[in-house]
Amino acid sequence: MNIEKIITVKPRGFCAGVTRSIKVVEDCLKIFGSPIYVKHEIVHNKTVVSDLEKKGMITVEKVSEIPEETVAIFSAHGSPPEHFIKARKRNIQVIDATCPLVTKVHIEIIRYIKEGFKIIYIGHHGHVEGLGVLGEAEKMNVQIPVIDNIDEVENLKYSTDEKIAILTQTTLNINKTKKIIEAIKQKYKNVIEPPAEDICYATTNRQNAVKELVKHVDVVLVVGSKTSSNSNRLAELARDDGVNTYLIDEVGEIDENWFKNKKILGLTSGASAPEYRVQEIVKYFAEQGAEHEELVFDEENLNFTEPMELVRIKKELTK
Ligand code: SF4
Repeated sequence: MNIEKIITVKPRGFCAGVTRSIKVVEDCLKIFGSPIYVKHEIVHNKTVVSDLEKKGMITVEKVSEIPEETVAIFSAHGSPPEHFIKARKRNIQVIDATCPLVTKVHIEIIRYIKEGFKIIYIGHHGHVEGLGVLGEAEKMNVQIPVIDNIDEVENLKYSTDEKIAILTQTTLNINKTKKIIEAIKQKYKNVIEPPAEDICYATTNRQNAVKELVKHVDVVLVVGSKTSSNSNRLAELARDDGVNTYLIDEVGEIDENWFKNKKILGLTSGASAPEYRVQEIVKYFAEQGAEHEELVFDEENLNFTEPMELVRIKKELTK
């Protein structure tokens, strides 16, 4: 092992949306007992899901898998309106843990459609967040093209004089998204760009921090799951800067061969990765003699209020 120094970077780890959705599950387990059904992984992180499943959370993919006349949570990534309709038909009381910053994009797509814009959605094909947002358009009988990379811009079929509005997934690579938007603007003259915060504050801050981190290190570890879009984007950005980077859920996945001839390791984590997994890695290297330094690029103080349904349930309980 050659690693002499480990540099952690802030901001990293849980964002306000993830913290809120985990608390929703924990509160529901306290109020209703186990099991509590959650539609889709509450957040895209293996450790978080496994820890909550041990406490009584059950993850399902379809509303039809949730027992009738029960309470269920919809995940932080958002859901299409059709899923709420299905839940109502099964007398399921839904507590919607959708991150408010995802809900904002749901509201934007409805507004732009009503205002007569043609919409282009930049996001990963088939990602659950996009499916939720596009579900709003489907409810209004509007089909929206999804663009995942710059080459797909030429496939857009809208006529070039249309009023175009661009919306994006919240967890995209900022640099790549800017290039896609530029390509769309080359093709269409009448374009409304996404509000800056469509790529959310947590994604932006963690990506800016990793771009700084790579200037100081020889190799990077990103703590996060392979299913996590924002964690993958952190690893992608570090690799784009030519630094060998590995995305891992936990210390047990470390391969010593990654660190041959490397002296300084950079460490960060995605918005859904728990801090204790980061600290286990710091400890692992510290025990082998590496010193630890923390680079702080920004402080985050954002908190979201809990979902209305949960507020109402808690009020009922205190009557
Ligand atoms: S990454 Fe951004 S959009 Fe996703 S849950 Fe966190 S704050 Fe919300």
